Amino acid sequence: MERSITVLRNWLESQLGFNGPPTSPEWQLVLSWHPSWAARIHEVQTVRVRRSRLNNSIQLQLSMNGRRYFTISWHACISPPKEGSLEAAMREAIGYQTRIWKARQPKPWLCATCRSPTLLQVDHNGTPLKTIIDTFLEQSANTAPDRSLWGFNARTHAPRLPKGAFVQNWRAYHSTHAQYQLLCRSCNAKKGARV
Ligand SMILES: [Zn+2]
Repeated sequence: MERSITVLRNWLESQLGFNGPPTSPEWQLVLSWHPSWAARIHEVQTVRVRRSRLNNSIQLQLSMNGRRYFTISWHACISPPKEGSLEAAMREAIGYQTRIWKARQPKPWLCATCRSPTLLQVDHNGTPLKTIIDTFLEQSANTAPDRSLWGFNARTHAPRLPKGAFVQNWRAYHSTHAQYQLLCRSCNAKKGARV
């Protein structure tokens, strides 16, 4: 199915009266686009399509674990992610690099500033991530892919860049320029306030 309001509305119209598990490829597709339900499709037991008594509009409803149906927005199934900045998408694209770095650090994990062992976060030590992003984008060859091609991270809802040269180059650039340290949440917040 094409990702447009007309196509989705027509398809839902054709499903009026449907009441069953969302197992067909079309249903999987529709729910996989919803920012809140994409990561929870497996929890949805039944879906149904009805007309609202109030204004005759189409209603898409879900039920989980035999509980009551509730209405979700089918418009949201075709809407772009909320936090759609390029910076957010570029941060999302390198998130796995910081997670891998953290997992490889010898234990015990301690805050580099106060030695606290709790609520540790990966901080960009040296060049801030924002500067690395800006410097990468200033190189004229690095043009971000068109927004219509972006997706989103089903777990965090962060915007996600499509596969391709831009994201590949960005990941390579970031991994050669980033340096990290572990900071506890409070020291990281204090550092953020200073910059
Ligand atoms: Zn600390």
